[in-house]
Amino acid sequence: METGNALNLSLNVPDTTKPRVVIVGGGFGGLYTAKKLSTKYFQVVLFDKHNYHTFQPLLYQVATAALQPDSIVGPLRKIFTNRDDFHFRMLKVLSINNETQEITTTAGNLHFDYLIIATGMKTNFFGNKEIEQYALPMKTIPNALNLRSHLMQMFEWASMTQDKTQQDKILTIVLAGAGPTGVELAGALSELRKHVLPKDYPQVDFSGMKIYLVDGMSRVLPPMSEKASAITQKTLEKFGIIIKNDTMVESYDGRTLRFKSGETINTYTVIWSAGVTGEAIDGLHKEWMERGRILTDVYCRVTGSNNIFAIGDIALMKTTAYPKGHPGVAQPAIQMGKYLGKHLKAMHEGKEVPPFKYFDKGSLATIGRGKAVADIWKLHFGGRPAWWIWLFVHLTFLITFRNKLFVLVNWFWNYITFDKGNRLIIRPYVKSGNELAKQVFKENETAA
Ligand SMILES: Cc1cc2nc3c(=O)[nH]c(=O)nc-3n(C[C@H](O)[C@H](O)[C@H](O)COP(=O)(O)OP(=O)(O)OC[C@H]3O[C@@H](n4cnc5c(N)ncnc54)[C@H](O)[C@@H]3O)c2cc1C
Repeated sequence: METGNALNLSLNVPDTTKPRVVIVGGGFGGLYTAKKLSTKYFQVVLFDKHNYHTFQPLLYQVATAALQPDSIVGPLRKIFTNRDDFHFRMLKVLSINNETQEITTTAGNLHFDYLIIATGMKTNFFGNKEIEQYALPMKTIPNALNLRSHLMQMFEWASMTQDKTQQDKILTIVLAGAGPTGVELAGALSELRKHVLPKDYPQVDFSGMKIYLVDGMSRVLPPMSEKASAITQKTLEKFGIIIKNDTMVESYDGRTLRFKSGETINTYTVIWSAGVTGEAIDGLHKEWMERGRILTDVYCRVTGSNNIFAIGDIALMKTTAYPKGHPGVAQPAIQMGKYLGKHLKAMHEGKEVPPFKYFDKGSLATIGRGKAVADIWKLHFGGRPAWWIWLFVHLTFLITFRNKLFVLVNWFWNYITFDKGNRLIIRPYVKSGNELAKQVFKENETAA
């Protein structure tokens, strides 16, 4: 309803005699819960800040121009078309009131009988405001598109200076964080440098383009086996990636990255995948939280609550097998979502249900064309077999048939042509804003 100049929105969720389940977050956890929950017994309400589900494992391919963003997201309304008593609203959930069983959102309040928190993680800059201002995160579709624009802008600038020192600085990229995201980006950027950029910018000498992969830990891919780390490090070094393990970032002012050791790198591009922290919601009791995540029992129930659940990355379920909680990857979120979707009705009826048990299917990371690493149960291997498995698994878990088809066609095309066809600057973007852009253009003018 619109009154005067103000637009008054309301949630507009119909009253119901069924128990109402509110799910916050349409990521892997929220999506699989909503798919599995029967709307015959429950009214299901799903809230997300975005109107789409993001397949985060392929974000790096959007950022490096291999895939269009549309091919790795699924519109949430489309996924749940034709489901009775299912209600999606695109909004931000602001707070939760456990006592009144009410949730506050940007479009009003709603009573819940059951609440499922599946809000995932956000980038952690560890309180360093300067790094947050200048470094590029890689957690969402807008982040990936910003990064793509930023990178393409850098290549454009590199073609507009003849000063070799300045060109090298523009072309230097630092990836902070050598987990799967850093490793996958490093591999993809080295492919761009080898196969794509020299054709696009024949006047630029890309031998000066340096790609650094830095991490405070002693090896790349710390969550994977030592063998997978060793294969990855060797492969990336062959690609010409400069790897700096045991290296802690201290500061970055948009031009100079400084390490704790005192060493510096001059660069306009620092990509930050060095940490994540829980995307918590206000109103959760302090004793429910630990290190930004929500403590749960083995039934995904928030410790100390009867009807609030937390699943996926945000949940911290400590078990004998996983004393520090489950790994922050898609499978625990999917499996917890399916578990709750299956057992919530029985829980509601007071029946006994089995505790959640995580089935670890293994870990995979791709390094580049035909190269990946896999830890599958006791097997640790790399090369083409791991790459084929990686391709198959990622295609399988993409959300819609359209996505699977588009990604497959793009991959096939990129593979046979050695090309990455989405090198577009749709909306010009440099992380450090106009000030830096102006300054760089000024430097270009001075150099000329
Ligand atoms: C770049 C990248 C690469 C990755 N690669 C892999 C990989 O190769 N393999 C793998 O298994 N895992 C990978 N992961 C991890 C995997 O994506 C996560 O573990 C998984 O997405 C967790 O699912 P989730 O449901 O807990 O949270 P998410 O999928 O993050 O979903 C959370 C949802 O909650 C919404 N939300 C958050 N706060 C609010 C709020 N206040 N109000 C409304 N909505 C809100 C968000 O918009 C989002 O849609 C990767 C992650 C990233 C970022």
